[in-house]
Amino acid sequence: MLEVAAAREVVLSACQPLGATPTPLAGASGRVLAEDVRADHDSPPFTKSLMDGYAVRAADGLNLRLTGVVAAGDPPGARVGPREAVRIFTGAPLPDGADAVVMVEKTEPVEPGIGEQVRLTEPVKPGQNVLPRGREMLAGDVVLPAGTATSPAAVGLLASVGRSVVPTVRPPRVAVMATGSELVEADATPGPGQIRNSNGPMLVAQAARAGSVPRYLGIGRDDVDALAAMVRDGLATADVLILAGGVSVGAFDLVPGVLRDLGVESHFHKVRMKPGKPLLFGTKGDRLVFGLPGNPVSSFVCFELFVRPALRALSGHRDPGPMTTTLPLSEPLTAKNDRPTFHPAKLEGTAVRPLPWFGSADLRALLTADALLALPPGEVRLDAGQPISAVVL
Ligand code: AMP
Ligand code: MG
Repeated sequence: MLEVAAAREVVLSACQPLGATPTPLAGASGRVLAEDVRADHDSPPFTKSLMDGYAVRAADGLNLRLTGVVAAGDPPGARVGPREAVRIFTGAPLPDGADAVVMVEKTEPVEPGIGEQVRLTEPVKPGQNVLPRGREMLAGDVVLPAGTATSPAAVGLLASVGRSVVPTVRPPRVAVMATGSELVEADATPGPGQIRNSNGPMLVAQAARAGSVPRYLGIGRDDVDALAAMVRDGLATADVLILAGGVSVGAFDLVPGVLRDLGVESHFHKVRMKPGKPLLFGTKGDRLVFGLPGNPVSSFVCFELFVRPALRALSGHRDPGPMTTTLPLSEPLTAKNDRPTFHPAKLEGTAVRPLPWFGSADLRALLTADALLALPPGEVRLDAGQPISAVVL
């Protein structure tokens, strides 16, 4: 049976970033740039004032004569001659001849008219309150290398270099299906022996949160032909097919056989972990297929540990995750498991607190969880303050 890390290696080695697609800025946030982006101009494009005040020559002393006004948006070209000052506003181009800006608070309070005296209250340093042309970037600089995950700040920078459309890695299309003859959808009242389908909507939400484009296929009955029809649909329309349930070794666990019959090559079908042992991963050509165990917490955890990294890798992220960290426990923890176990937990400042958890059907334990403690197999007895490794959700 594969260990978690080895199984994730198998998954990631099947994941190549998808192709690039031209993306308007409004849809670029969260996507990964497929090409280097260069500055199309120096920034700032002209030497500019960082303050409201007076553009001056630093060496000219404290008594000057006002000769003009420049505001943000005025074209460069104003001039400051010897012992002259020009009233200037934040973002305005620094007049030729000037080498500093004195903020208005550092001048005598009465605002002079043109031709009148400007009195400075402090000596001036050359360069003060001035941002020289090209200080932020020079035309031709690579400002966003290929592989950058586009944050809101990156979107702002792209706009500033004139890129209203950029090539980004296409996000994967993900098809999600639940399996199980006992399942009904959330808007139905379960009959005798039936339960509501929580995995379908949950996995769609997880896939959307991971930046992919999910499509929900519905519930497949525990029937070979019904399952096969849905699997065919998923393989034809998605980059990644996720099935939940029907993947272990019971008489009604039909998923492995259906996948095999449809030409999906299985790469593993068990991982040494809890919850979620009977995880199946397969490929058909460049399609990825995940068969997740049907218990909702198992489905959730397997998605976060395996599917999410795959979706991130397909989306071009260099670090597919999951992110792990080591933190002290905020309270003691005892556990006994036959496999490495992922226990829902809450990050609390610089510590982590295990949450009450009643097993792999207990979704409420995940409600407040933002981490999973990685517990080793065997008996675990840890005191408050002892370090433990955790997967950050
Ligand atoms: P399975 O993996 O199909 O053997 O299912 C394991 C357990 O999870 C059973 O108790 C199922 O009823 C339950 N289960 C399977 N699929 C779902 C689902 N989509 N929503 C909620 N529970 C499910
Ligand atoms: Mg089932």
